[in-house]
Amino acid sequence: MEELLEREIVLELKSRFFDLISTGRQSLSFTEILSQMLDVLRGLIRADVVDFYSCEEWNHGLFLEATTRDGENVPMAGAFTDCMIDELVSGPHSFIKNPPSMPQYDLLLILAADEKLKGLFAINRSGGSGSDWFWQRISHECGIFVEKIRCLAHTMEEEKRYKLLFRVTEKFHSTMDMDAVLGEIISTLREVYPSFTYYLLLSHDHQGYEGLPVKDLEYDSENLTAMQSYVSGQIQFEDSIIDKNSIMYAPLKGKQGVYGVLQVIASDSLVFPQNEIEFIKLLANTAGSALENAKLYEQSRKLISDLQLINETSHQLNTSLRLTDTMSFICGQIMKSFKANEVGFIMHDAEKDSFTVLQGSSGFFFSKEASSYILRIGKRIKQDMEPIFIGDFASEDEADLLGFRSIMGVPMIQSGELRGLALVLHEEPYHFTFDTFKLLQSLIHHSTLAFTNSMLREELEKMVVTDHLTKLYSRSYLDDKMNLSMLEDSQGTFILIDIDNFKGVNDQYGHQVGDEVLVQLARQIAQNIRGTDIGARWGGEELAIYLPGTPLGIGVMIAKRLVDKVERNTNPNVTISCGVSAWVKGQEDTTKSVFKRADQALYIAKGSGKNKVVIQNETQFDFKSTQK
Ligand code: GH3
Ligand code: MG
Ligand code: MG
Repeated sequence: MEELLEREIVLELKSRFFDLISTGRQSLSFTEILSQMLDVLRGLIRADVVDFYSCEEWNHGLFLEATTRDGENVPMAGAFTDCMIDELVSGPHSFIKNPPSMPQYDLLLILAADEKLKGLFAINRSGGSGSDWFWQRISHECGIFVEKIRCLAHTMEEEKRYKLLFRVTEKFHSTMDMDAVLGEIISTLREVYPSFTYYLLLSHDHQGYEGLPVKDLEYDSENLTAMQSYVSGQIQFEDSIIDKNSIMYAPLKGKQGVYGVLQVIASDSLVFPQNEIEFIKLLANTAGSALENAKLYEQSRKLISDLQLINETSHQLNTSLRLTDTMSFICGQIMKSFKANEVGFIMHDAEKDSFTVLQGSSGFFFSKEASSYILRIGKRIKQDMEPIFIGDFASEDEADLLGFRSIMGVPMIQSGELRGLALVLHEEPYHFTFDTFKLLQSLIHHSTLAFTNSMLREELEKMVVTDHLTKLYSRSYLDDKMNLSMLEDSQGTFILIDIDNFKGVNDQYGHQVGDEVLVQLARQIAQNIRGTDIGARWGGEELAIYLPGTPLGIGVMIAKRLVDKVERNTNPNVTISCGVSAWVKGQEDTTKSVFKRADQALYIAKGSGKNKVVIQNETQFDFKSTQK
């Protein structure tokens, strides 16, 4: 009868246990079911108290995991020593009545596997005894059930983690935003292991990552284990007894390299929990791929913008008409894209072995200090015909030039000859990256042809408007400029010059020498006028000067000065006569009429003794003769 009842209790226990896990639960918490299981057990075996201790592997002790008592009477955890545990397992019984090592209990149901204690049910029970068979069965069933729910809970836990992992991966595939992926990884880790602390130790320059626990991965002794993980690409552990924590370093690995290390700090534990490692490793690898993708994406965007820059510049070079405009454009582009302080284009004249700064270069290149940079860098480029990249100019021999520390110099080579060079400067050392340097080379390489063409075109244009012998402008150029000036300016003066008795010079010294005298006169003219004035060969041995914006008085002064200088500075010695005319805005006038008035004045000068200046018709004031 007794035996029958015991059998029934065992069956009832099994069936109630089954109910606990089969009621269509959504989530299964181990602790929750364990505590319900204890209630079932207590009810069926009519116990007063059932405590469940589990055996903690890490610190080799028992701790109370669940109890049927209410809060006040809970016994202290960890009250059992190693020796007691050994004693419990060594016995053949899967239960112990009135255990000597735990006298506060009446009965212990022991859960063991492979001679190792896994846990125990400690029971207080005032009445009834029960057969050995009965307690063995109960112990056996409880053991199986605890194992089962542990296993189930573990599976559910795993499932939850993999769902989270899936969420991270989904994010990873749906966005190029590295911050979002890293953020998701950190928040997943915090969700799964809220007690751990996390840091992302990143190896490259980083910006952004707002709100993320990002640190620099630096080569210093403190971070030796992190560095080891980074270099080897393997997970590393660091268990510190002093700090009472265990740290795991998981490399953030992509397909092409390692981008940093995930540092996970588990405080209050001396050995890192093994079962978490695999999951953290998966997350770390996802972070590595995210960083790699972002980096590749960044690189391709940079490449695109580099190509755009080259494309835009080449386009501009091919369409622009004026070299100066082109130069200003390129210099502006380089300044903007490379964040440079100064950008200059310097032409090299192979015949004279000299350097000339092109208009359009930035301001510094037209200053005195620039010439030492141009000469030094130019000399090196000329020698090697190779681009130059200087991270810190001050660290070189040329330490006296401290204004600009970062220097890039790229030669412009056309048909194997050095046509010029581009110089890009910045005052900070190591301002330009090597990528910038490569980009500058491509840019210059792509621009050189268009650029030299543009220069040739300007030279050709100049040749068309320049007189071959005297290198002064042609008459037609003067005509055009004067027409334009009469529309735009408020006044202007025209000087017509004729060499006195030139026929005689030719007769006496020959045409060749006559030509040389003409060149001497042209040089005197060029030296006595400003860049905006126009000196031209009017025809034969007659030359002319047009002074835009200049009043008659000043024009006469210039003519007079020229007459004086020519008389003193020509060899064989010649003199000149000048006719001067001027126009003023508001009075009806034409270029033709201005020319005619000067011609008439010149005629008068010739007829009144030569070597003098005569002003247009009304006044016809003879300056020269008044001086004599
Ligand atoms: P005048 O003082 O009246 O000007 O006397 P001139 O001998 O200079 O007379 P004119 O101005 O009529 O002289 C023109 C001479 O200039 C004719 C020619 O021999 C010379 N001539 C014109 N063009 C050139 C040139 O390109 N080279 C040389 N060597 N001589 C030239
Ligand atoms: Mg003449
Ligand atoms: Mg003459």
